[in-house]
Amino acid sequence: MEKIRLGISTCLLGQNVRYDGGHKLDRFLTDTLGQYVEYVPVCPEVECGLPIPRESMHLEWDPESPRLVTLRTKQDLTDRMVNWAQKCVVELEKEELCGFIFKSDSPSSGMERVRVYNEKGMPVKKGVGMFARIFMQHFPLLPVEDEGRLRDPKLRDNFIERIFALKRWRKVLERKESRGNVVDFHTRHKLLILSHSPRHYQTMGKLVAKVKDLPLKELYQTYQALLMESLYLKTSPKKNANVLQHLMGYFKEQLSPDEKKELLEVIDHYRQEYIPLVVPVTLIQHYVRKYDQPYLKEQIYLNPHPLELQLRNHV
Ligand code: SF4
Repeated sequence: MEKIRLGISTCLLGQNVRYDGGHKLDRFLTDTLGQYVEYVPVCPEVECGLPIPRESMHLEWDPESPRLVTLRTKQDLTDRMVNWAQKCVVELEKEELCGFIFKSDSPSSGMERVRVYNEKGMPVKKGVGMFARIFMQHFPLLPVEDEGRLRDPKLRDNFIERIFALKRWRKVLERKESRGNVVDFHTRHKLLILSHSPRHYQTMGKLVAKVKDLPLKELYQTYQALLMESLYLKTSPKKNANVLQHLMGYFKEQLSPDEKKELLEVIDHYRQEYIPLVVPVTLIQHYVRKYDQPYLKEQIYLNPHPLELQLRNHV
């Protein structure tokens, strides 16, 4: 698979663009995820024309519509940043991004819970960085995260699963539009979708069942929106256990009573969070290979991202 293009706050790559001339290198992003990703760096403060080093700044007043103001000289940089950001997001349309990783807590780049100071100088953690807000409004379906949240294994798994899924969907978009391509993509992603949202699994199943009744453009747009919406919802041990039992059903004829008992036990141990997801998935993969199950071989759920990322190894 060719590399996934992701936007990223430049300082996370180790470039010295911060107000103090430093950086915020994140080794997981550069060394581990970086093997599968081509980053498109964006530093809003430098790219809107501010120097390095520069006066530090923060957000002030209304958390819904704050001002970006420097701390010492009280320069209001809001209009400068907004004007630049609005042009930047239009330029970024050409980059075919599958997501963005923001620097947490930054008044320019933070995607949530950024401090906004009221008139008494008291902070509330309810703001969104100036650039991050405009980016997320412009690309509402793109997966976004910040490096702080990506330290949580579940959020990391969810984000990476979404960027890989979006990359596969983009591959479908590169081909000539056809109903068959959407059906084929959906068939391979069915169980992945089920593991996130049984409701979307039903809705998308109905959508795909009536592909012939929908204009192609509408089908593609609706499918893409539902896909990203479904994968945004978190999986859980209960939802995954449901999918694993569904997978087990494909081997009713082949497995001995003892093998069935063992697999059920492993799934139950996973559901109770004694063992990680990789354990039942590996056992099922073994049966898929052994019994050459053609439908399951194609299921992205069994292999949604590279094993080396170890995303299913946590309990
Ligand atoms: S947080 Fe954003 S604005 Fe600040 S240095 Fe990093 S990329 Fe630049």
